[in-house]
Amino acid sequence: MSLSQLARTIRESVTLKLNQTAAQMRERGEPVIHLGGGEPKSKTPIDAIVSCTSVLNSGDIKYTPPDGIVPLKKAIIRYTEEHYGRQVRPENVVASSGAKQAIMALLHAVLDPKDEVIFPAPYWVSYPEMVKLAGGVPVAVKPEDGSFVPTVREIADAMGSYTKAVILNSPNNPSGVMYSRDFISEMVELCAKRSLWLLMDDTYNRLVFDGRTPINCYEFSKEDLDQSKLVVVNCVSKMYAMTGFRIGWAVGNREVIQAMATIQGQQTSGPATPSQWAAVGALNGVQNSIEALRLTLENNRNILMDRLLSFPGVKVTKPDGAFYTFPDFSAYQKDSQKLAELLLNKVRVVTVPGKEFGMEGHLRVSFCGTPKEITEGIERIRWALDPTAPNELYLGDRRLVRDWQ
Ligand code: PMP
Repeated sequence: MSLSQLARTIRESVTLKLNQTAAQMRERGEPVIHLGGGEPKSKTPIDAIVSCTSVLNSGDIKYTPPDGIVPLKKAIIRYTEEHYGRQVRPENVVASSGAKQAIMALLHAVLDPKDEVIFPAPYWVSYPEMVKLAGGVPVAVKPEDGSFVPTVREIADAMGSYTKAVILNSPNNPSGVMYSRDFISEMVELCAKRSLWLLMDDTYNRLVFDGRTPINCYEFSKEDLDQSKLVVVNCVSKMYAMTGFRIGWAVGNREVIQAMATIQGQQTSGPATPSQWAAVGALNGVQNSIEALRLTLENNRNILMDRLLSFPGVKVTKPDGAFYTFPDFSAYQKDSQKLAELLLNKVRVVTVPGKEFGMEGHLRVSFCGTPKEITEGIERIRWALDPTAPNELYLGDRRLVRDWQ
């Protein structure tokens, strides 16, 4: 079959694939524990459901403007004012089918063939493939010191004449690390000085722990929004646990937002109408579900850290936010793909190989499940890897005997 070069170079989303594998195994009755997931367990906020069902009940579900319905844009403008202290106009906002589409539309709007896009490693699995889909070249900057945050100097050193954009995601998927105010402020300044696009992927920025407050990148931007190349992407997916609705947005200068809307208009048209109304309901409704989710995640994070910190040989950095941690298991197995496969095949625990996020030897372990899943999952992993653990383990009524080293 003559598929395009692009189709042959783009890799499947490993995280989505793992969701599929876990679902199939569960259907076969396997006692799978999914520590590889990327979505909170909580239900859609009631205000989102009411708003969505009322448009469904009207039976009048038609195309919308490619950049979103007016009430959604108004809700995003209000959100931006409240959480970023920025007054923006409707021309500065585009609603998309998930943060994913907002990022893709931005990349399509700003990249010429072979332009480079820089992002720190570890990075969200989709960035390299998205950059390639838009014809660009992904450039990951791995911290020299073995931490999860490169220095501004390391990032500046990776910049060259082909660099067009930088993507920052904090709190970070997969490490859960929140970049410091100084780091964000220096990056905003550096990108402005070099006239580079800076995409702040704020997907997780409300989900932060230990009394932290979200960092507002606009605090460090001296330019008027319409002169600035700073673009903030957000979504209802994680903070409202509305991953299936597929609504995200971008806020940026009028020109780039117009280009993104035009691209979306040709690609997919506006996001699905009922989903846009659901997002309006979530954004304008009672906000307590975000705090409830944040508290649940913080508690889950603490449970997971307790277990991981007492796991011999495993190096772990405490996550500041989001719902992922990225422990280093290289003392047990350097090849993260092999390790994830072993854990899935032997003890039915799903994790995501660190290689996919640009760092070998690590596994991404999610804590968006239940405390029981987290404790049992880590117990199984420990049983599989720690040779001093007892030789037998029961998964339900199934007796497992360790027959590997
Ligand atoms: N950015 C990051 C860092 C993410 O982790 C995700 C989802 N896993 C997204 C963007 C995409 O969000 P959405 O589901 O709204 O497309």
